Amino acid sequence: MTAPARTRSTAELIRAEEPVLAHNYHPLPVVVARAEGTWVEDVEGRRYLDMLAGYSALNFGHRNPVLIEAAHRQLDRLTLTSRAFHNDQLAEFAQSLAELTGLDMVLPMNTGAEAVESAVKVARKWAYEVKGVPADRATIVVAAGNFHGRTTTIVSFSTDETARAGFGPFTPGFRIVPYNDLAALEAAVDETTAAVLIEPIQGEAGVVIPDEGYLTGVRELTRRAGCLFVADEIQSGLGRTGRTLAVEHEGVLPDALLLGKALGGGIVPVSAVVARREVLGVLRPGEHGSTFGGNPLAAAVGSAVVGLLKTGHFQLRAAELGVVLRDGLTSLVGKGVVGFRSRGLWAGVDVDPAIGTGREISERLMAEGILVKDTHGSTIRLAPPLTITEEELRSALGALEKVLAA
Ligand SMILES: *Cc1c(COP(=O)(O)O)cnc(C)c1O
Repeated sequence: MTAPARTRSTAELIRAEEPVLAHNYHPLPVVVARAEGTWVEDVEGRRYLDMLAGYSALNFGHRNPVLIEAAHRQLDRLTLTSRAFHNDQLAEFAQSLAELTGLDMVLPMNTGAEAVESAVKVARKWAYEVKGVPADRATIVVAAGNFHGRTTTIVSFSTDETARAGFGPFTPGFRIVPYNDLAALEAAVDETTAAVLIEPIQGEAGVVIPDEGYLTGVRELTRRAGCLFVADEIQSGLGRTGRTLAVEHEGVLPDALLLGKALGGGIVPVSAVVARREVLGVLRPGEHGSTFGGNPLAAAVGSAVVGLLKTGHFQLRAAELGVVLRDGLTSLVGKGVVGFRSRGLWAGVDVDPAIGTGREISERLMAEGILVKDTHGSTIRLAPPLTITEEELRSALGALEKVLAA
């Protein structure tokens, strides 16, 4: 008889990570062992309401049954081919994603950073081949406060010193302008500009929402200047803001969209560049690729994600519950909240620094059974799965009120 496997405690598991795991994160002291829907359970059997949802990678909840079923079905048939061969899942994925976004072509990748990297390459190639920018002179204009990922090229145009320090030399060819400033953007764009790359809402910066008219202005300016508008919707897209895409709030369609996070349904990493034919059409065999990009498991899950979004159900939930979230936060202004920004089920909440740092607030919320993540300073981010019930959302707001009052 073998003794039953002894489950290791939270403290033991955290201590075991210490010497062997790179310290590039500072997680809350909770060790998650299982999850379902909006709830996660730790190794001690404590349950928490997940108000972060994997930075929006879990928009459809943990282990969404439709997505798990699609993944299981595919796991039993075919998981990986590489792009050396065709697989029977990819056409539908690309077709459905193009149709969902109103664009023409799809470049499947895996992580968000890869989608951004791919867009940088494609925009440069488009600038040389279509726009006629002289060789190696292409520029890409980005916004201060951006978060587009962690690769060397991407941190080259970050304004976050923690993300950059010690990682140079950096990739040239980027111009940084203030976010939400059309005049600065206009001044930075010239005949060398391949693209303007921005987040329609800056997530990591603390859910920073530009003024009404900014996205329309970016669309008009880029069209006039003859450069591409590339929108990084990796966090803002796929239902989070109450629409399929955050750019829809101003009714604009960029030349290229970057999608990731929720596109993998919380199961596998799936990202994509989705663009007009003229843009992605610049790529020819051998010029770009990925061993895992467009693999059949990813494509099957991605198609199922698009299927969920096609119903409009999750966008509607985000819009309706977004009102509950906004009203709840409004009532906390002056009671520990100094300000907040929200759209759909997504909020950046600035807590009075006298009450605590974002980290401290997150730890106190954890003790109340609510998992959140600070962004920086005393700002916390709320981004629950779009499957959250109104009752669960109200209980999370109640816990926040309690923590702020303590
Ligand atoms: C998370 C994120 C990325 C990077 O995605 P990874 O999958 O972590 O590489 C890029 N852009 C935005 C807006 C993001 O939120």
